[in-house]
Amino acid sequence: MKDELVHREQLSPNFDERALPITMAVLHYTEMKPVETALARLCDPEAKVSAHYLITEEGEVVRLVPEEKRAWHAGQSYWRGHKDVNSASIGIELDHPGHALGYRPFAEAQIDALVPLLHRIVSQHDIPRANVVGHSDVAPARKVDPGELFPWDRLAEYHLCLPRPDKLEQGDPFDNDAAFYLALERFGYDITDGHKAVEAFQRRWRPERIDGEIDGQVRAILFQLLLDRDRGRTR
Ligand SMILES: [Zn+2]
Repeated sequence: MKDELVHREQLSPNFDERALPITMAVLHYTEMKPVETALARLCDPEAKVSAHYLITEEGEVVRLVPEEKRAWHAGQSYWRGHKDVNSASIGIELDHPGHALGYRPFAEAQIDALVPLLHRIVSQHDIPRANVVGHSDVAPARKVDPGELFPWDRLAEYHLCLPRPDKLEQGDPFDNDAAFYLALERFGYDITDGHKAVEAFQRRWRPERIDGEIDGQVRAILFQLLLDRDRGRTR
């Protein structure tokens, strides 16, 4: 355990006991500025929200909740059959203005601090790459963070999340939209609101167009992700 990755501790009272082992990591943005405001809220007993870590735009890592405890970051969520995502996950907040306060690329120093922290978390808890997700992936109807500018490709370079499939199989994999939604659910998403689920999928896997429409490229990407997983190429 490399504790030097964490620069300081500001413990939040907002946590309880886990009901599940750790099998996921969920990434967020704070959508609050300055960072002191976000830290105050994540430690405010009235707010009833928290995360295990917050990373400032300058790359400082603040521990808020011990990993063995259940932090309150995901809210009502779903991923691959789990409804209590907080119990199963480590939550990491990235200091960022979000879509509300001026959406912009994530700071280099922040991603440089995230990579080793996430690497340690994924290794220590043996978290499958397919379970390193954004808040929007586990709450597609409510959330859009960390959003389309989050550099998933950087994390994928270090094998910290699944890469976007580059080679796509030919042919149309799904007979109709119902078959697509079923596959989307099998991959992990809550499809209660189908349009929002497709938007979340696009935000993560095809961010250059987010319109909730099931087009050919979206179908091909999902099919490839499932094929790769079924063939054991990804986990
Ligand atoms: Zn969030």
